[in-house]
Amino acid sequence: MKILVVNCGSSSLKYQLINMENEEVIAKGLAERIGIEGSVVKHETIGKEKVVIEQEMKDHKAAIQIVLDALVDSNHGAIQSMDEISAVGHRVVHGGEEFTDSVLITDAVKKALEKCSDIAPLHNPPNLMGIYACEEILPNVPMVAVFDTAFHQTMPSDSYMYALPYELYEKHRIRRYGFHGTSHKYVSQKAAEMIGKPIEELKIITCHLGNGASITAVDGGVSVDTSMGFTPLEGLAMGTRCGDIDPAIITFLMEKENLSGSQVNELMNKKSGVLGISGVSSDFRDIEDAAAKGNERAQLALNVYHKKVKKYIGSYAAEMGGLDVIVFTAGLGENSPETRKEACKGLEFLGVKIDDEKNNVRGKERIVSTDDSKVKVLLIPTNEELAIARETKVIAK
Ligand code: ADP
Repeated sequence: MKILVVNCGSSSLKYQLINMENEEVIAKGLAERIGIEGSVVKHETIGKEKVVIEQEMKDHKAAIQIVLDALVDSNHGAIQSMDEISAVGHRVVHGGEEFTDSVLITDAVKKALEKCSDIAPLHNPPNLMGIYACEEILPNVPMVAVFDTAFHQTMPSDSYMYALPYELYEKHRIRRYGFHGTSHKYVSQKAAEMIGKPIEELKIITCHLGNGASITAVDGGVSVDTSMGFTPLEGLAMGTRCGDIDPAIITFLMEKENLSGSQVNELMNKKSGVLGISGVSSDFRDIEDAAAKGNERAQLALNVYHKKVKKYIGSYAAEMGGLDVIVFTAGLGENSPETRKEACKGLEFLGVKIDDEKNNVRGKERIVSTDDSKVKVLLIPTNEELAIARETKVIAK
C-alpha cells in the first residue's frame, strides 16, 4: 500500500509518497511559489537524481498535477501509474472542537472544515485547496484529514478555557486548541517505546522546537495541556512569533505607534520572537553563531528562549504532579545541544540531569540524560509525514 501525504500552505505544497509495507519514503518533494511567478517543483525519488521542474502553476490543482506527473515519470518517477496510490493523507491545521481524531474526507467533513476556516484563516483555506485539487485529479482515491489540533482535544476544560467572558467561548469558540498535535503524539509514543514502559504509566513533556514551537504535557498518553492556544501565536518565543506577552501591549501599541489590529498581528507574528530581540535572524544557527561572537542581543534572545522552555517544563511538571520523560524534537530540538542543555539547566531539583557527552548529537534518536537521571531526556526526530500516513492507512482501509 502506497500513501501520498500532502501538506499545503498558501503558496507551497510539500509531499511524500510512503510505502506502508516498510514505512519507507519512496519519493518526496516541494512545490513552491504556487500562483506566483517563478513556480517550481523540487522532486526526488529516493535512489534517483533530484529534479527541479520549473513550470507555471496557477493554483494548487496545477501543482498537484505536476507532482503526480513527476511521480509517474518514466525517468525520475517512483511508480508506474497513479492507480498505485491507495490513499491521500492531508495535513489540516485546524479541526476546531469538531474533530478529535483523523477522519475520512466526505462532503460533510469539507463543510465543517470550511467553518473552521473562520478561526484559522491563514491555514485552513490552503489545506482545503489541496483537498479539492487532489479530489479532482484522483476522484476515486480515499482522502483522510489529519489535524494538528486533534491530539489536544483531550485537554480538560481548565486547560483550554481562557479567563475571558464565557459568552465569547460560546459565541466564537475562543479557547485553547493547541497545534503540532501530530508531532507531539508521534514523539510521545516513540518515547514510551524507547524507554520500554507503557505510555499509560508515563508523564511526558514533549518540546517541539522548530520555526514554530510548542510544548505539551502528555499524561498517560493524552494531551492535558499545551503552550499554543487559540492560534499558533501563544506560548514560547519562536523564530518570528512573540509567544506569551501581556495582552495590554496590543492596545498600547495600537495607540502609541498608531497601528491597526492587522499591523500589530503582523508585528507579533512576523517581526518578533528571537528575530525581534536579536535583530540578527529568525534562524537559530545564525543567532547561536552571532552570540558565540559576542553579540549581546543574540545572546539575550537565546536566554529568553531557553528560559521560556524551562518555565513551561516546570509548570507542566507541576500540573501533572510529576515527570518521567522530556522529549526534544523538530529543527532546533533535534539539532541544538545548547538548547537542550540550557532548557534543562536548573531542573536538577526535578530529577533532570543532562549528560553533556550524550547530548552532543544532532538529529539522532537518543537518550541524552545521565544513566542515573530520574527524568529521562530524549532526542527524538519527529516524522509528521509518517504519522499522517499511519493514520491515513488505518482510516482509508
Ligand atoms: P518548521 O517549523 O518550519 O517545520 P523546523 O522544525 O524545520 O521548522 O525547524 C527549523 C529551525 O530549526 C530553523 O529555523 C533553525 O533555527 C533550527 N535549526 C535547524 N538546524 C539547526 C542547527 N544545526 N542548529 C541550531 N538550530 C537549527
